[in-house]
Amino acid sequence: MSHLPGTSWDLPLPELMAEARAVRDRQHGTRITYSPKVFIPLTMLCRDKCGYCTFAQPPARLDAPYLTPEQVLKIARQGAAAGCHEALFTLGERPEDRYPVAAQWLADNDYGSTVDYLASMARLVLDETGLLPHANAGALYPEELAQLRAVAPSQGMMLESLRDDLDAHRGSPDKVPARRLATLEAAGELRIPFTTGILVGFGEDRNDRIEALEAIAASHAHGGHVQEVIVQNFLPKDGTSMHQAAPCPPDAFLEAIALARLILPPEIHLQAPPNLSDDFGVLLQAGIDDWGGVSPVTADHVNPERPWPDRDRLRTVTEDAGFELAPRLTIYPEYAIRPTEWLHADLHFPVQDRSDADGMARDDPGAVYPQSVGEASNVGDGAEVVLVGRRSSQWYVGTDAEPPMLLPMSETRATGELAKVLDAVRAGEVPDEDQIVTLFGARGREVGAVAELADELRQQVVGDAVTWVSNRNINYTNVCTFKCRFCGFSKGPLSLNLRGTPYLLTLDDIAQRAVEASEMGATEVCLQGGIHPKFDGDYYIDVTRAVKAAVPHMHVHGFTALEVTEGAKRLDEPLADYLRRLMDVGLATLPGTAAEILDDEVRAVLCADKVNTQEWLDAHRTAHEVGLRSNVTIMFGSIEHPRSWARHLVRTRDLQAETGGFTEFVPLPFVHMASPIYLQRGARRGPTWREVVLMHAVGRIAYHGYIDNIQASWVKLGVAGVRQLLQAGVNDLGGTLIDENISRAAGASHGQGMDEAAFADLVAPLGRRLEQRTTLYGVSPQPA
Ligand code: SF4
Repeated sequence: MSHLPGTSWDLPLPELMAEARAVRDRQHGTRITYSPKVFIPLTMLCRDKCGYCTFAQPPARLDAPYLTPEQVLKIARQGAAAGCHEALFTLGERPEDRYPVAAQWLADNDYGSTVDYLASMARLVLDETGLLPHANAGALYPEELAQLRAVAPSQGMMLESLRDDLDAHRGSPDKVPARRLATLEAAGELRIPFTTGILVGFGEDRNDRIEALEAIAASHAHGGHVQEVIVQNFLPKDGTSMHQAAPCPPDAFLEAIALARLILPPEIHLQAPPNLSDDFGVLLQAGIDDWGGVSPVTADHVNPERPWPDRDRLRTVTEDAGFELAPRLTIYPEYAIRPTEWLHADLHFPVQDRSDADGMARDDPGAVYPQSVGEASNVGDGAEVVLVGRRSSQWYVGTDAEPPMLLPMSETRATGELAKVLDAVRAGEVPDEDQIVTLFGARGREVGAVAELADELRQQVVGDAVTWVSNRNINYTNVCTFKCRFCGFSKGPLSLNLRGTPYLLTLDDIAQRAVEASEMGATEVCLQGGIHPKFDGDYYIDVTRAVKAAVPHMHVHGFTALEVTEGAKRLDEPLADYLRRLMDVGLATLPGTAAEILDDEVRAVLCADKVNTQEWLDAHRTAHEVGLRSNVTIMFGSIEHPRSWARHLVRTRDLQAETGGFTEFVPLPFVHMASPIYLQRGARRGPTWREVVLMHAVGRIAYHGYIDNIQASWVKLGVAGVRQLLQAGVNDLGGTLIDENISRAAGASHGQGMDEAAFADLVAPLGRRLEQRTTLYGVSPQPA
């Protein structure tokens, strides 16, 4: 069977490789993946006697039949500290059936089998380090696969070959082809993302390889579970019975890779190990899209004489061939983003916790450890989460650590679909939803290319000015009847002990805060808060009136789409009439918060009881129609994927085309630490830095010609982060935020006010001009 009608597998090698490359490029684009992992050789005893294997050892050569839990954890901890995401358990097959010492060790330690011990160690590693186990336990029975499914997001077993007469497999009961095919099939039935593969040049021939690849494709057709296929070249090793056999000829290896790419469905990832070829760059030319596991810590225990290339070399070789290197998890993204189908319930969160929005591995450098939260400490309306235990060193929103330096980037590059989108925008096209998704898919040097275009557009539209506004947030209450699952700010009346002290400012308090703000030079107060059960719509009118009575020239930027929709609803008044009454008492603009992600699939999980997408858009349309301007926010990095980001941008852009009422776009990265949905193990830990950069840059590109101002939140991203974003399309720093409570309540640590001098320091290294603005982007601080 061929997936390329008209393709002959008998083509000369260069043409076969070209066909394979074309399939790879169409399906996988410019992304080449690898899995940063640590290898845990749980036992080197094996009941099989494969003629090429140096991994398996007799008991006499080993200190102990199995690694102890302490040894397992020590290796895993080293891997976690080095930034790995995967713990690959390598082990021999059923050693207890051959070696009494193995059976005795298992009995002494209360394990029923090697697989039983493996399951226990995988659980230990997962719980203690957060590394995701991949179980490579050979030919297994369905109940064993099912047992491991609860502790390992993916499993693997090389099919090797379907030939049953290979010398290499003599004396190896687990290498009987029927056993291995049965394992592969059972994995499909159990919905286990599975890795398999063939070994090339160890006695089988070309037809055998084709037969094995076709069998893998057939199994995938039943189960949809084959996430990747490894094509591995045989190398003779000293101390094995095949030490004098010829190594796999390079051309046969390249041909096998190309055949795999053409025979297997294109969505199956194709891997060849980089450490088994001297010139591994050529493997890319045969159609692979993955380098497999690369360990910064441990040797390849199966091929100890062939060390891993370091990650810098892997990156250089990949980039020299015109691709971008990206880390993945042990479970591939196509499976990771469908957890209910492909993962045991216990593993949904551990996978999500290491994922980015694409379902790839979080790619900021550093270690990721499971978050532990201690007793909530009540510090009034501020930060309440106390993190305990090992702290992740990888960057995330709200951490004290500075984000990695992505910008400026020394070398940028865009090819393929991404280059087409960037060219189209430069030619004046407005990117559609699919094109925006392509922009969000940028990796490596491509991120720099997207940021470059965003920076060009920023320069065209607003020049070098970097603007800011002097303002104060007044969050009049933290009591809220809504149950937004991302919100670490609101306090339900029944959760006092857990969530700190509920408060409700009086009108006098609010007026007093407005006076203080004015005395400190603020031109704007930003009024937002929870939806208190006692509020009716008149509350917002009273608040506005109180502020304007206290400071008549103050610009009142207040009330989200949710608040005004609720206010009007509680008064049973048409929204337009209600907004006009608010304007009459002094409301000047509406903040764009409560938008979160304008995609109802996502809102159903994040904030099911809040205004839906249409209601948010309708509220802003109505506001614009009555003469109030507003802005667009997006809260990103919790549960959603880039498709939802693109929908959000397109929907708000469409409204802007209709009304012209939005002044700016404000990306608000999700701060996970104290948010209920994260504490309930239901969300990612915010966006990665690459995603933050892209959200601002793609916002600039997608809104070009529609919304001129792109704002970065220094509260959430810090000064160093915002400085990078000013090179990715951003032109506005937002407000001084004399009080900043909401982000701090969710655990962010940048929640202190900025002033003009601090903004000047932020901007100075870029040589850009700092300008104070009004809320509506007037160039001088004139009160509204
Ligand atoms: S986000 Fe707003 S509406 Fe939702 S729970 Fe928090 S305070 Fe209430």
